[in-house]
Amino acid sequence: MQALGERVEEWLRGATFEGYEPLGFTGLKTYDPPPDALVGAKLERVDRRAKYVSLWFDNGLRIVFHLSQAGRLDFESPPKRTKPKGAVARWRFSDGRAVLLREHGTERKAGWWVLAPGDDGPLEGLGPEATSDEFAEFVRTATDGRRIHTLLRDQRTVAGVGRGYADDVLHRAQLSPYASLKSLNAEERERLIAALHEVLAEGLERERGREGGLSQNKLGEHFTVHGKAGVPCPRCGDDLKRVSYESHEVVYCPRCQTGGKVLADRRLSRLVK
Ligand SMILES: [Zn+2]
Repeated sequence: MQALGERVEEWLRGATFEGYEPLGFTGLKTYDPPPDALVGAKLERVDRRAKYVSLWFDNGLRIVFHLSQAGRLDFESPPKRTKPKGAVARWRFSDGRAVLLREHGTERKAGWWVLAPGDDGPLEGLGPEATSDEFAEFVRTATDGRRIHTLLRDQRTVAGVGRGYADDVLHRAQLSPYASLKSLNAEERERLIAALHEVLAEGLERERGREGGLSQNKLGEHFTVHGKAGVPCPRCGDDLKRVSYESHEVVYCPRCQTGGKVLADRRLSRLVK
């Protein structure tokens, strides 16, 4: 989302908001202030927090949007009149520019908010950014008893990691996804901090290098271990393993991360029976 925010800023540099068309399901999560309150306002800057991108306008209002897994943005010039499948909204800007927010599939998780000054909307309660000094301090000192993989996915503890990067970060740090923060020694905690910085920086570089569409769901192709159970570990060559949950899976290398121990996969053991 960081690279996406950068591209939106580039595309809309100096733009004035001219109007919007709601196109599909109720993607707009707020009703006050109304989107019409943005008409005539000039875009000042774009930034990202966790998986949310904010468009800040010179009248103090902002648009926040979230793409979810299957969402994407299309840049249109001139603006189209079409209503593509999965379209959520089209925002029209000066000089014949428009941004179309859309989502593939049926999850209906992509959305947008119009927020008044001081209102954090969906960003309220988000933890510090993963690469911030604040979170590094947390990793160095916390006695959190949750599994690190769980903690990294909790947006109230740390923003912007998610399950894909959680797998890659733990693999990089050579730590078990089932280890807890309080069980780590100082050296292991430093490894975790360094891995977070490296993996997220590399992810950002790859995103910046991508051409064309802005969908999120192609990101998976670029993970190091996430989604790659059964593939040889890039460090040691043993097969990567998975633990499956209802909504996600955890991928790890037993040799590199758990001292050779294979973590129980309930779904797999059911299949074996
Ligand atoms: Zn390995």
